Amino acid sequence: MTPSTTSPQRIVEQIVIALFVLLVCWSGLRLAVAAGWLLVPILSIAVPVAWLLTDLLSGLVHWACDSFGSVNTPILGTLLIRPFREHHGDPQAMTRHDFVETHGASCFAALPFVIASSLLPLSGITMLLQATLLSIALGALATNQCHKWAHMEDVSVPASIRWAQRHHLILPGWHHHQHHTAPFDSHFCMANGWFNPLCNALLRRWRR
Ligand SMILES: [Zn+2]
Ligand SMILES: [Zn+2]
Repeated sequence: MTPSTTSPQRIVEQIVIALFVLLVCWSGLRLAVAAGWLLVPILSIAVPVAWLLTDLLSGLVHWACDSFGSVNTPILGTLLIRPFREHHGDPQAMTRHDFVETHGASCFAALPFVIASSLLPLSGITMLLQATLLSIALGALATNQCHKWAHMEDVSVPASIRWAQRHHLILPGWHHHQHHTAPFDSHFCMANGWFNPLCNALLRRWRR
């Protein structure tokens, strides 16, 4: 079902996305000005580290939203828990979602990182920290897009994305489908899935 463009949920998601974009632009601009020629080496470290951490964080948030609270939990219920719960009811529905529905919850989850990266003083090592926080925020946005591609038919996914999935640089469909297979208690990481073997083992141990 296409959401009403005036539903309160959608208006909140649009505001969150607008705030996220503004903060990313501000944070990126001040980093570029402060770093100068150092920007390239800083990003060459920050981006891979952030892509690794984003996978771990995506697993933690996903596991928490699948395991605790409900859609009626104040604030988090509507903005963060609801998309995960609805996704389990109809995993393919997200392939029909537009930009706002796909990325609203991700932008909300990433706000603390982009707010922190916007406020950090910029000097020395904090530039690397800021670049990592900013990359994690953008990685959160990419994560749900990778999740969406993992659920899409091969013919609907661009060839370059299929190549990245085959080489496990982003979440492959066969890997993520194990999360949607009984007993539905593993493979929570959704950016690239690299942390899933470790997280699955830790969760099995914690449950025992
Ligand atoms: Zn789940
Ligand atoms: Zn899924």
